[in-house]
Parts: sequence; C-alpha cells; structure tokens
Amino acid sequence: MSTLEKIKGIGPKTIQILERLNIHTEEDLIEYYPYRFDVLERSNLRDAFDGDKVILDGIVQTVPLIYYFHKKMNKMTFSLNCGEAILNVTIFNRAFLKNNLKIGTQITVIGKYDKRHGNVVASEIRFGMLPKEAKIEPVYHVTNGISSAQLHKMILMALESNWQPKEIIPAYLVGKYKLDDKRSSILEIHSPGNKKSLERAINYLKYEELFLFMLKMNQLKKNRVWEKGISREITKEAVDEFISQLPFTLTADQLKCVNQVLEDMNSSRVMKRLIQGDVGSGKTIVAIISLYINYLSGYQGAFMAPTEILAEQHYQNVQKMFANYPIKIALLTGKMKKKERGEVLKQLASKEIDIVIGTHSLFSEDVYYDSLGLVITDEQHRFGVNQRTKLKEKGISTDVLYLSATPIPRTYAITLYGDMDVSNIHLKPKGRREIITEIYANTEIKTVLAKIHQEIRQNHQVYVIATQIEESEDDELENVKELKDKFERALGKIAKIGMLHGKMNPEEKDKVMEDFLKNEIQILISTTVIEVGIDVPNATMMVIFDSYRFGLSQLHQLRGRVGRGDFQSYCLLLSDREEERLQIMTKTTDGFKISEEDFRLRGSGDLFGTRQSGDVRFHLADIKRDFPILLHAKEDSMEILESPEYENGKYSYLRKIIEKSMSLD
Ligand code: ADP
Ligand code: MG
Repeated sequence: MSTLEKIKGIGPKTIQILERLNIHTEEDLIEYYPYRFDVLERSNLRDAFDGDKVILDGIVQTVPLIYYFHKKMNKMTFSLNCGEAILNVTIFNRAFLKNNLKIGTQITVIGKYDKRHGNVVASEIRFGMLPKEAKIEPVYHVTNGISSAQLHKMILMALESNWQPKEIIPAYLVGKYKLDDKRSSILEIHSPGNKKSLERAINYLKYEELFLFMLKMNQLKKNRVWEKGISREITKEAVDEFISQLPFTLTADQLKCVNQVLEDMNSSRVMKRLIQGDVGSGKTIVAIISLYINYLSGYQGAFMAPTEILAEQHYQNVQKMFANYPIKIALLTGKMKKKERGEVLKQLASKEIDIVIGTHSLFSEDVYYDSLGLVITDEQHRFGVNQRTKLKEKGISTDVLYLSATPIPRTYAITLYGDMDVSNIHLKPKGRREIITEIYANTEIKTVLAKIHQEIRQNHQVYVIATQIEESEDDELENVKELKDKFERALGKIAKIGMLHGKMNPEEKDKVMEDFLKNEIQILISTTVIEVGIDVPNATMMVIFDSYRFGLSQLHQLRGRVGRGDFQSYCLLLSDREEERLQIMTKTTDGFKISEEDFRLRGSGDLFGTRQSGDVRFHLADIKRDFPILLHAKEDSMEILESPEYENGKYSYLRKIIEKSMSLD
C-alpha cells in the first residue's frame, strides 16, 4: 500500500508521530484498531451512583470561575442546567475554554459524579447536545502530539480511498463462522453503526488475530518435531554432587524442574522448556544448574536477562555458585567499553569463556560462539516469540530454557505456549516469612509515614510506587516527582531519597538502582519500571500509591520486590477507593492464585504486563474472554497446516505471513 503522505492533513510531523505508534503505511493506519469503545448515551442521574462515570448534556447557567494553583494548574467551575437537575461542573486545566462557555451554551459533559454534592468532575467538555440515539465512539491508543479524535479522523480519511484489504482467513472458515468480509469489518470497527454490527466486525478481526497467532504457534510446534538437538550423557549423580554443595537445600519443585531439564538435555530432541514460578520461588538456581549440566557436556552457555541491572545481578550470583569450579564466566552488556567487549567476544569465539551472561546484546550480530549448547532467557515474557527465531537465524539450534515470573493458568499456558514444555514451581523456599500486606486510605498517610520511618530506623530500605511521573490532568493521582518532594519534607532528614522513572536515560536509571543496591539511597520513589526481577534483600517495605489503578498480577510483581531477605517485609497499598479486589492481596501471596483471580476479574490484559512487549500481544482479542475463539483458531489453523493443500502451495500467502512474522522482531 502507498505511503501516508498522500492522505490529506498528514505532513512530515504527523508521520513522525504515527511512526511512534508503529503506523508506517496507509494499511497500518487502517488496521490500527480502537482499543475500546465509548457509548455516548445520556446517563440517568437518578440511577447513577456516587463515583460513577456520567455523560450529560445541558445549558451553561453561570459564568465559569477559574482558580489558579501550583504553577501551571487551573480549575474551572460553573453550573449546568441538565433539565432534571442543576449540577456544579468542575474541570481541571481547561481555562482556555472559558470564553466559549457563555451562559446559555449547550454542552455535553463527561465525568465523574459526586452524588452527595451534586457535582460532576469533568474529564471532557464537548460543545452541543447529545444525539438522540446512543452513539458508539471508537477510542484509540495514542501518544504525545496526537489525540484519539485526530487519529480517528485520519483513519476515516484513509478509509475513503479505494483500498482493498488482504483477506487472510480462508473463505471456508469465513463461511463456517458466518463472518462478514474483512473490508466491511474494518469499516465497521472504525465507525460503528450499532452494538450488534460492531460485535460482528470485532468477531471477524479477533478471529483473524487469533487465527494468525495460532497458525504461528502451531508452525513452531511442527518445526520442533524435526529439530535434532545435542544428546548429552550427564548422570544424575554428577548433578546431585553439584547440588549438594549449594548453600541451600532445593525445594521439591526445584528438584522436579532440574530433573525435567536433565531429561530434556540428555534426550536427542531440542529442549524448549518454560519454567513458571512466582517471584522469589527460586528459578535462578534451576537455571544455574542447567548451565552446569551444559558445561559438563562440553558446551558454552548463555544466560540472557531483560535489563543490565538484572544481568549484573545474575552474573554475581552465577560466579558465587561456581566459586569452587574451574568455569570461566563473563558478563556482556551494552554499556561495556569497546576494548573490554572485544576481549569477551574473542574469548567466546575461542571457547575460553564457558558461560556468558548479559542482555539481548548476547545475540548481537558481532557475537560468535564456538559451541553454544544452552540459552536461558530470564523473564521471558519481556522478549518476543521472535527472539527464539532470531537465535535460529544465527544458526543456533541449542537447548533453550525460559524463566517466567508471570504465571498463567495451565489451560491457557498449554495453548499459548503450545510449542514449549512447561514446568511450574509452586512451593517457595522454606523459612520465607510471608509479606504482610495492608490497605490504607490516602487520609491515613501519617500512619504510613510512621511505618516507613520505622523501617528506615532499622536500616532497611523502602520502595514507593506511583502511577505517574509528573503532574498531569488526572491530578487526583500521586506522581513520582511530587512524592519525592513530599518525602523529602517528611523523611529527608533521616533518609536519602531517590527517584526512578521511564523518562530518565538508561545511565541515570542504572546509577539510581546501583545506589539503592548499595543502600546509598534508602527510599526509592519510582514508577513501575522497577518491576522486573530486582533483588535487594535489604528492602523490606513496598508502598504503592493509587493501588486500585493496578492489576492484581502487577501488584503481586511489585510486592515481590520485598521479602527477599531474612527480615519481615511489608506491602502497604494506598487507595482512595474501596475495592474488593485489593483485599485478595492481603489474603494470599500465591502468584498462581492471584493470576487466576486476575483472569477471572479483568481478562488477560494485565497478565502479560504492558502490551508493548512480550510473547502475547493482541490488539483486540482477550485471551480469557475470547478463549473459545482461540480454541477454534487453534483447531482450524492446525487443520490447515496439516492439509495436503497447504503442502501443495494453496495457502502460500499464509506461509508467507507466518514466515515474515517469525523473522520480525
Ligand atoms: P525468582 O524465581 O524470582 O527469580 P530467585 O531465583 O531470585 O527468584 O530466588 C530468590 C531468592 O531465594 C534468592 O536469594 C535465592 O538465592 C533464594 N533461594 C532460591 N532457592 C532457594 C532454596 N531452595 N532455599 C533457600 N533459598 C533459596
Ligand atoms: Mg528472577
């Protein structure tokens, strides 16, 4: 398809913005689906509860008053006559609308209802009344510099051109499920007519998405049958000997995993195993034992982590565990000096190095291994399916082990990770103290501060999490920068306070994390960037502001940052909303249970962390809600892959799509 420039209103600047959304062609734009739909329908105030989202239209009845506060913030209030009631409307940071809000102006207000005070805190004001019939509006994920409405306009513009999408779903399946064609489905999803027709369109696109996904998974599975790996002959005794000198006794689940890995590695088939285990369940040692098995059989091993900090942590850990063995271990990260890096690369190629630990830089183009036999990927959900294929492109067909701390229920795991074997670690090492989790309202901040104070006095460290980096429109939410000031005032005399967020550059982030590791910072205020795998045993308290904003699995991951040492640890959840959901956090620390619960409550969206990365990324489908569709897609795609027609080239376009998607990163 042609480029974006030919669409009216899209200039070089917009193209840059669209690129950030991964929209490069007209086709990308057309296939950029909404992530949710708002139904624009007048709310019935009588049925609305306190705190509900409401949509109302009415007539401005008083001149808006504006208050300015902080440096750049403002708050505007006025009365709105909605017919059945006169409401007080408040909106933040829209002072610029004042001149358009003359008395008598007809407007529509979308916001949160404060029933007791007859107030609406608006998030949006539109001019004009609501249409008589309910209207469905698509909402798109956007980035700085473009609004959902602007993007929508561009998409509609692109849809006006004479385009014809590639039909991917074979015709007989379109018939089987009584789906529309792709063109009308796409038109419908961008400008929905009614709920029913929209649902039909979504079904088409969801099925297509899941069909392609399962096609790829099934292809990976099929490929596996043919892959011959290294047959090793390592005895259980040799492994036991190594295990017996470890500083702790392995749990039954860890032992089970080790045995499964040993069996896989000794067999002539390539190992592809996923170890799922809760944070702190001790997956790393299983990885280290696997590296040992691999070493014994005469091969090099690579251990890949998603961040530099984590790679360094593993490096130290691996060195410690192999202290009594003549194994040469190296670290390879992106921030190494050229000369140092050159030395490591040379020694990898000449097999002087037995085990290398690093980030994805382990598989950069200039890295050559003499005899790589095992690749371990930690926090595998942070890397794509394609990471695996990438290894293959380097001619590497080694045993592979994935570690994941995002457990997903078994039924789903089997389908989603269909091309892998899965082991679970349920048990945690003995002697771990349960983390005490408590919920506080924002008004109880004094109690929370006192608790933090107590930890600091015992020379322990504390994480504080906020949802936002800086003040934004939703000023009810705490943000990292303001919290830092507040904490400086409250505890700055007794603790050094650090700050970590995604807008900092990697060096700054690493520095802060290192200071925290060395206890040069005692209180670390952060967004969720600290989520992955960091091990600071001296950190004993996790404080999470606006915790109702997080999914349970995410809260669980965050909580897993504490309780890693011998001290009693705590997780304090601040929330101004009473949510039943949060209570679960106080009752269990079992990640599998929590993820089941999360699945039950919200579908899969949150389970895989942010949707931008990871194995399983769907635009429209939700693995839980749409599991039945997924199962159909699984069967249908297998049927196609195994059909003689597929072999004969009838579906060559599908083959091309699969091949392409497997080679992309
Ligand atoms: P995760 O599964 O989250 O990656 P780690 O492998 O980092 O967990 O293990 C968490 C901590 O538990 C580490 O400090 C590790 O040394 C320790 N550990 C692992 N296994 C055991 C065990 N069997 N007994 C006692 N401590 C263990
Ligand atoms: Mg880990």
